[in-house]
Amino acid sequence: MAQPTTRNYYKILGITQKTSKADVKKRYRELARKYHPDTNSGSKTAEDKFKIVSEAYEVLSDAKKRKEYDRQQSYQKRAPRRPKSQPDWNSPPGGFGKGQRDNQQGYEEPFAQEPEPVDPDMPTSGFDLQFMVDVPLPVAALGGTIPYSYEKYVRCEECEGTGVQGSDECSECQGKQLVVRPVTLDVKIPPGVADNYTLAFIKEGGEGRNGGPPGDLFLRVCIQPHPKFKRVKNDIIHEVTISSKLAEEGGPLEVETLNATTIIQVEEETLIGEELRVPGEGSAISWGKKRGDLIIKFNIEED
Ligand SMILES: [Zn+2]
Repeated sequence: MAQPTTRNYYKILGITQKTSKADVKKRYRELARKYHPDTNSGSKTAEDKFKIVSEAYEVLSDAKKRKEYDRQQSYQKRAPRRPKSQPDWNSPPGGFGKGQRDNQQGYEEPFAQEPEPVDPDMPTSGFDLQFMVDVPLPVAALGGTIPYSYEKYVRCEECEGTGVQGSDECSECQGKQLVVRPVTLDVKIPPGVADNYTLAFIKEGGEGRNGGPPGDLFLRVCIQPHPKFKRVKNDIIHEVTISSKLAEEGGPLEVETLNATTIIQVEEETLIGEELRVPGEGSAISWGKKRGDLIIKFNIEED
């Protein structure tokens, strides 16, 4: 069985025993993001901190484990502190990049090397946000700008982001310095964007705390079906119904394109299901450098 830990998980996460499960999760996400190896270019120190934070979260987010941990901690507080004789498993192999530790008088708590006491005044990054954005087919094909509304944490206006009003906690944000507000962003859709493509908007996520940087916004493109046009790779298919006379004799016909109209020439004896290709009137390719084709597919009216 694992030894009871001597780590103060509450201190690690910068919370108290009263902190709710939801807030534990929130706090963990902030810290996990901060120390995630991916965002710290593989720093060993950050990786170690990440592990410890995750370990704390694993225990404190689970009601049963948390209760057991609290029980152990209160027991350890009562028991006299013993010098550690066993290998210090609190210190990951290689340590936190500090000098050698020894067992002299100035023996440090393992946690002297933990994420510097994660205090509530520490700048923390805002949340990254991920949503879906509905994009009309013509906009996806040719690019454009659409307003996108979403909610995010912004600086509390009441307390100007300090979390306090005079000597009291700010009643608007409950001391969190941040409040959730709806915002609208003009989202630039690149020409020819694919369905499910994720667009990144740096710093458009939630506001950070204590001067920490804002998070990012990620929008997954969801191309809306269109009543007339269908997109197949870079081409746009447009089904057009013509009279049997026009199909038989041929002649000019005005058809809609993605952004205008054009005149096509219907051939004599056009059959149902036949296609006519209008070059360069399809969806943008390579972010707009070229365009696919518009394919007119004929339906013929019955007499
Ligand atoms: Zn406030």
